[in-house]
Amino acid sequence: MKYCLQGHDRDNGVQEMLISLLPDEPHDWVLQLPEDAEGCRSLAWEAGGAILSRAEIRMGEKRSAAQVESPLPAGADGEEYKRILTYTVKTAVYRALLPLLERKPVWGSLTGVKPAKPARLAIREGMSRDALDAWLRDHYDVSPRRRGLCIRSAEYAMETEDRLLPRETQLYLGIPFCPAKCSYCSFVSNDMARWGHMIEPYTAALLQEIEAAGELVRTQKIPLGSVYMGGGTPTTLKRDQLLRVLSAVNCSFDLSSCREFTVEAGRPETITGEKLDIMAACGVGRISINPQTMNDAVLRGVGRNHTAADIENCYRMARKKGRFLINMDLIAGLPGDDDAGLIESVRRVAALEPDNITIHCLARKRGARLYFGPTGQLPAETLDACYAHLEKLGYEPYYLYRQKYMAGGLENVGFCKPGAASHYNICMMEELSDVIALGSGGVSKLCSENGRRIHRVANPKYPKEYIERIESIAEEKRRLLDEREM
Ligand code: SF4
Repeated sequence: MKYCLQGHDRDNGVQEMLISLLPDEPHDWVLQLPEDAEGCRSLAWEAGGAILSRAEIRMGEKRSAAQVESPLPAGADGEEYKRILTYTVKTAVYRALLPLLERKPVWGSLTGVKPAKPARLAIREGMSRDALDAWLRDHYDVSPRRRGLCIRSAEYAMETEDRLLPRETQLYLGIPFCPAKCSYCSFVSNDMARWGHMIEPYTAALLQEIEAAGELVRTQKIPLGSVYMGGGTPTTLKRDQLLRVLSAVNCSFDLSSCREFTVEAGRPETITGEKLDIMAACGVGRISINPQTMNDAVLRGVGRNHTAADIENCYRMARKKGRFLINMDLIAGLPGDDDAGLIESVRRVAALEPDNITIHCLARKRGARLYFGPTGQLPAETLDACYAHLEKLGYEPYYLYRQKYMAGGLENVGFCKPGAASHYNICMMEELSDVIALGSGGVSKLCSENGRRIHRVANPKYPKEYIERIESIAEEKRRLLDEREM
């Protein structure tokens, strides 16, 4: 949709709202829209101690308009003025567009990827749960189910925050290789057939970074709260490579304060009994075995070379080892899947009784082969039926995030059995603590002001560049941690 602004400069806010409500079309700013043209005209002005915004929209033959007024507190300037202006402009666009949509968005006008974070900050500032619920309803038109998800996730985040040690930091290790690339994936995951020869030099470089970072963390006596090895698919490493990396983590870091050690094993064709034994021996207590769907045709369609039965067999093998908390990821909205297929996948996975189940909604992304496909019309009711099934079995939603261009404008939710929430996932998602990220694609974060300010330092995205620059990367990390100490 074309849009123009009059009387304000909140371009990002208008675009964010349009993307959130109409994710399947491009949205372009134009200087002016002729009177009768299709598109959105967003106006704002000040009068009587308030900011007013009006949005006028034409889609095909349909027209709609809405006006919103927000009082300006005395002396509001700078950031606060911008925040109120952005809210007013976005809300006017939302209300104007609402009558033209086929479905009411369950998140209302609330945009942003971490809905539980402002909820947590509001509770910390003294807002009661009831007042927060009413605020999400009245200010953002959020549906009851999503308000509940938001508040429950905020509560989990606060419990986690209260347990954090002074200066606690989480450690991430990235293994950017996969057996083959899934069509919906936008991560820098390098498929083995083409990039398998890079794994050994990559492992050597990663070991170097682990050793250098370990020395820094030990010297500065930084307590590690968790270790998370993700990717990619970390279990694409061969046995000896996996052993070398996990042993290096144990030797280089003091893990005495570490609450959990996770390896995102991911794809069943890469998981063997021997690798599970190595993980257990090296202190790994949590793994992921990710089906994405339990429909074999859909799995084939998105380029995954395993079946639902492989997942079940792999899960049973890991359970027999008896030592792991197990997470299983599912994706709603995969091409070729439908509502009944999603519900069946959730039922089959839940029947295995993993400790965590994470339900993602497909998000269309640059870099994924599916980028030009539609986001799909995943109905919120289908997802709600899945959530209700999990809750009936004793699972609780514990973390939550959203992405741009998500199927149905929905969300990703992690569910856990009581006591099995992932510390790392909550810390990461809610930006509760610093993260030191090692390996290509890793993004280290220094969080300050209760997660309101984040300083990010990214390692190179691609393994080749990572290997070539390993010396300077270790030096950058040293500077980052020295900066934090000051
Ligand atoms: S296994 Fe995961 S990281 Fe690898 S290509 Fe598939 S979705 Fe991407």
